[in-house]
Amino acid sequence: MKNALAPHVRVAIVGSGFAGLGTAIRLGQSGFNDYLVFERSHDVGGVWRDNTYPGCACDVDSHLYSFSFARNPQWSRTFSPQREIWDYLRGCAARFGVLPKIKFNHPINRATWDATTQRWHLETPHQTFTADVLVSAVGALSEPAFPPIAGLETFRGTSFHSAQWDHHHVLRGKRVAVIGTGASAIQFVPAIQREVASLTLFQRTPPWILPRRDRPLGAFERTVLRHSNAAQWLRRAQVYGVRELLALTFLDVRAAKLTELFARRHLEQAVRDPALRAKLRPTYAVGCKRILLSDDYYPAVSQPNVELITAPITKVIPEGIVTHDGALHAVDTIIFGTGFAVQSFPFGKRVRGKHNRTLAETWKNGMSAHLGTSVSGFPNLFLLQGPNTGLGHSSVITMIESQIEHIVNALRFMSANAIATVEPRASAQAAFVAAVDAKTQGTVWASGGCSSWYLHDRGRNTTLWPGFTFTFKRRVEPFNPSEYLLVAKHPGATAPNHAEHIQSRPHEVHAHG
Ligand SMILES: Cc1cc2nc3c(=O)[nH]c(=O)nc-3n(C[C@H](O)[C@H](O)[C@H](O)COP(=O)(O)OP(=O)(O)OC[C@H]3O[C@@H](n4cnc5c(N)ncnc54)[C@H](O)[C@@H]3O)c2cc1C
Repeated sequence: MKNALAPHVRVAIVGSGFAGLGTAIRLGQSGFNDYLVFERSHDVGGVWRDNTYPGCACDVDSHLYSFSFARNPQWSRTFSPQREIWDYLRGCAARFGVLPKIKFNHPINRATWDATTQRWHLETPHQTFTADVLVSAVGALSEPAFPPIAGLETFRGTSFHSAQWDHHHVLRGKRVAVIGTGASAIQFVPAIQREVASLTLFQRTPPWILPRRDRPLGAFERTVLRHSNAAQWLRRAQVYGVRELLALTFLDVRAAKLTELFARRHLEQAVRDPALRAKLRPTYAVGCKRILLSDDYYPAVSQPNVELITAPITKVIPEGIVTHDGALHAVDTIIFGTGFAVQSFPFGKRVRGKHNRTLAETWKNGMSAHLGTSVSGFPNLFLLQGPNTGLGHSSVITMIESQIEHIVNALRFMSANAIATVEPRASAQAAFVAAVDAKTQGTVWASGGCSSWYLHDRGRNTTLWPGFTFTFKRRVEPFNPSEYLLVAKHPGATAPNHAEHIQSRPHEVHAHG
């Protein structure tokens, strides 16, 4: 009864980053206008709203790291900075008319499947809503992760995570510790190194780093792109092709050797000091952890005010950080470049399916999903950037777009056949997961000799798609009803279980008009 007057929508989308906005735009373009987007924050943009650290930029060329249906000929650089990507997303939300459909400052605290009404009940701090279909677009990298270091609360100075950068804190002249050497740290370390008095960099495992070759896009290049769709597609296709070749690094030993050769040469050319070079040289196979791109990280780490510490941290005390060798590293500021809670998928605790179990409980031994997108026991739930949809080599926007087309196709099928609910068959999900596992066996993630956030504690690859993006697209975009349990809208009606696969029709809207 509590929800009798709750506003109802056909589709509720949680999150307004690339995934949530992309879904909203494509739903609108496909004629599904009865949707709402719930966003816990005050603005759209997801990680590009939250990560404002100095030097923040994409590490896949902007012409690919953007929507295929909203290409942007105006990118200022090959790897555009955070502010520009955030503006692009805000521009997309405005241009495609999504803004009025977004409920800002509306975190979804709980989403519960009601088997009687066959609806999702969505609790926000302000109001309860109901929805036929729930799309989780909460992001895989939206919850900052902190390492469990003893004594952190006793630290006398200032500490913050790179995803929650404290812009009021002046770094100039400070003794700064950076914990972590992952994708964010290698961007902000060169950006702050010159202004700080000293930078003590705590490294657990060195990353493999390839040259980035970032450059500004000149007026001529941008004019050509602005006036020619063909030039835009060509540029996108060129980046896409090169990135797909990089996937061979994970899948083929010979390609991995070649990539390793490039990375070793990059290190050797950039770092002259043999002792520092040895510390920065990874001992695991290239690609096993995320390959990073940077032109300025190695030069920054080579500067006299930077010290690279490889001894493990044992505790934090009021004056600074103590390492395993007993050394005290006295600092004024600690910056955590320690990434995000990927394996725990925090939103999973909030979503309760038809067996009165949460996603987190269902996934207690590791995340898995059918096509990385839907989960047995959770009717009418779709996850963007779900298990095994991450990439080590290219733009995840390509993956997100394939998943969005799957959702659009599912909705088309449901409308055309008066279907109330779709839920992946446990057998279909198990078969998909087995295929992913088998494919992972031949990759560097299974044999590369490293631990990474790609792998669950039990060693299963729960995060990455072990293949090319075009194989994902081919497998995921169509909605194959035989893989789903279907419940008809009207009791007594028979749900068609073997209707033809529903495929997307190509749909494109140009970014500039
Ligand atoms: C610094 C950084 C750089 C990156 N660079 C690249 C790159 O170059 N190439 C690449 O392919 N990938 C990159 N990524 C990965 C990036 O996560 C994805 O590319 C993409 O932006 C993810 O979009 P998303 O919409 O799935 O998630 P997000 O951008 O994380 O958006 C999720 C949204 O959901 C909201 N939300 C979460 N929980 C709730 C809730 N309970 N209720 C309501 N709202 C909620 C959040 O506030 C957020 O707005 C990068 C990530 C980071 C952090």
